[in-house]
Amino acid sequence: TRRHARESLLMYDGVQEQQMRERYQLLLNLRRALKYDQLSIALQPKIALATGHLAGFEALVRWQQADGSYIPPDQFIPVAESAGLISELDLSVLAKTLDASRQLRQQGIDLPIAFNTCSIDLLRPGYFDEMLTLIRTSGVPFNRLELEVTETQAMAEYEVISKQMRQLLDAGMGVSIDDFGTGYSSLAHITDLAASVLKIDRTFIARMETSPKAQHLVDMILRMSAFFGFQVVAEGIETESQRQYLASRGCQLGQGYLFARPMPPEKALAWALGHPR
Ligand code: C2E
Ligand code: CA
Ligand code: CA
Ligand code: CA
Repeated sequence: TRRHARESLLMYDGVQEQQMRERYQLLLNLRRALKYDQLSIALQPKIALATGHLAGFEALVRWQQADGSYIPPDQFIPVAESAGLISELDLSVLAKTLDASRQLRQQGIDLPIAFNTCSIDLLRPGYFDEMLTLIRTSGVPFNRLELEVTETQAMAEYEVISKQMRQLLDAGMGVSIDDFGTGYSSLAHITDLAASVLKIDRTFIARMETSPKAQHLVDMILRMSAFFGFQVVAEGIETESQRQYLASRGCQLGQGYLFARPMPPEKALAWALGHPR
């Protein structure tokens, strides 16, 4: 058994080493993709649940490989974060979001687009100003943009970034707390959140109809938001009964495969032109 333990230890090391090598290769490839501007965005519609009307979009990063496949963001965003590449990535996504916004507006689709930002960005000196400069030079009005920050991170460093979020709100930009309910926020905290929107994580939406706990949490977020004046976006709506339930509880907006998957900007434009607004 001792030899077995030793062998399994060696095997474990082998697996770890393999994982490290893969991660390193991913990092090199990502660095190259950023350098040669090979990342793109997909836009997912946000829908007004009561009317079915198109209400806006979320921009999500996409990384297509030479063979046509895509590496999911959940795999490379953490690598970008730990390797110090996330700020460059997020600014590049913002630039593409601003381009898309201008193109959509030219075709008469004048709706807000949300982009993702992580707290690492907002904590890096200079990032906030770079972001503002990018937006200002693009000419896209602040009230046609929305910043999404995840709750976990938002709460941990809340003091530092709430000032920036307040400034964006004052400029007319929307600020969303992403994946709300998954992080650390205490209920006491919610009253001083510098945010206009709470996004309910799709794990709760998926479990809502089978788990009383998940349903209570969704109900509670909706009641609390009505009380404190937050708009609520439910993410990951996949069924009509989920849509109906959320609409009946006063959830204003939703995203999910029931309505549309994230699409390349040209496809999102065509989709929007054929959809009630
Ligand atoms: P997120 O911000 O919570 O984005 C929602 C994710 O749910 C997206 O996955 C979207 O494609 C997916 N989704 C939307 N509707 C449905 C549905 O009905 N069912 C299911 N099963 N999934 C749905 P995606 O694009 O893979 O992004 C994953 C995460 O990666 C995002 O979660 C976000 O945290 C991060 N991310 C994406 N783009 C960026 C970016 O530009 N910057 C940063 N920092 N993070 C990003
Ligand atoms: Ca998001
Ligand atoms: Ca989310
Ligand atoms: Ca999520």
